[in-house]
Amino acid sequence: MRLHLASGNAHKVQEFAALAAAAKLPVQIVSAREVGGMPEVTEDTGTFTGNARKKAQALRAQLPAGSWVLADDSGLCVDALDGGPGVESAYYAGPQGDSAANLRKLVQTMRGVSAEKRGAHFVCVLFLIDGTGAEHVFEGRCDGWLRDGPEGGTGFGYDPLFVPAGRTQTFAQLSDTDKNKLSHRGRAWAQLVAWWRTAGGPP
Ligand code: IMP
Repeated sequence: MRLHLASGNAHKVQEFAALAAAAKLPVQIVSAREVGGMPEVTEDTGTFTGNARKKAQALRAQLPAGSWVLADDSGLCVDALDGGPGVESAYYAGPQGDSAANLRKLVQTMRGVSAEKRGAHFVCVLFLIDGTGAEHVFEGRCDGWLRDGPEGGTGFGYDPLFVPAGRTQTFAQLSDTDKNKLSHRGRAWAQLVAWWRTAGGPP
């Protein structure tokens, strides 16, 4: 069955397609780009769940009745910044959503912050609207800390700065498969899969 992803971001489509394949879920992840494009959504609710819900509802409104839609909202919460940039992660350095500028700003902001105060965690909320219109929320979190400077060439966003707890490499030094095993997105997805198998999803 088709699971419409409320995002036109090719990297996210690829990441969710890989997660679905690894879990052997019988779904085809369909990008919003394939169904008329992702409608403009202002992420202004102040919560990951609220923003993800807005994205899911916006896409579903332009699809035939009975369509399944998945949206995600995620971000990096830094202890020394009282949980910021959090829901503003994509726009930390300005409304243009420039990932490289966001990373540079975080490096600068954290300059001089001591090792014991460099704790941070990623959050991912997955918001699923099933064929009946019922809404389901799954949340994943990954704790870790921030390096002084970027390291590694894979991944996206703040990956080169973030070292997951118990590891020495940043997310940007891990393969997609290894990152998915411990990431906030992978953990939220694991909950969705558990729900799918026990309660909700079509076989
Ligand atoms: P969203 O697309 O509105 O959920 O934006 C989330 C933002 O949080 C992204 O633009 C990234 O800056 C950051 N982010 C979320 N997940 C990750 C991740 O796995 N690695 C690095 N940055 C991430």
